[in-house]
Amino acid sequence: MPYNQTQTFFHKRVVKLECRHCMNILCWRGMRAILLADTSIELYSTDLPPPNAVEMSGDDYCTSNCACHIRDLVCAGCGNQVGYHVTLPCRNCMDSCNNGHFWMFHALECKEVERMEDSGLKHLIWGKLPPTHEDLQKLKDKTSKKRSIFPLYPIECIR
Ligand SMILES: [Zn+2]
Ligand SMILES: [Zn+2]
Repeated sequence: MPYNQTQTFFHKRVVKLECRHCMNILCWRGMRAILLADTSIELYSTDLPPPNAVEMSGDDYCTSNCACHIRDLVCAGCGNQVGYHVTLPCRNCMDSCNNGHFWMFHALECKEVERMEDSGLKHLIWGKLPPTHEDLQKLKDKTSKKRSIFPLYPIECIR
């Protein structure tokens, strides 16, 4: 499924995420989000983290928010817990606010880096993001490119 995006986040910016502890790249295709069950919690979501960026830790569990099964994610570089993976989404979440992103990163554990278009002149938005497999392939050549850091942008809900 190359494109799971809906119009609501077509214009949102794509961000890269670095581990705040060891600078390991956790995610190339991140989206700023908030937890619907608790809007004070800031998160980033992605459809697929790059290979070997994160590892799952422990067993599946549920939170009091909903019936989703989730599992902790740790940074492959330093072992710190940086987020969680929804291993089995619940009905409510599938019906209400599903953007196809089942990998979540805690905003406090990672650093946002703006991702630019190939030209380097414009911010990449989700509507212009290539399908996951193409994107990951392309990014293999880019890892040495210089990165620029921009201020954070206002929080938006996935919805
Ligand atoms: Zn759920
Ligand atoms: Zn790390």
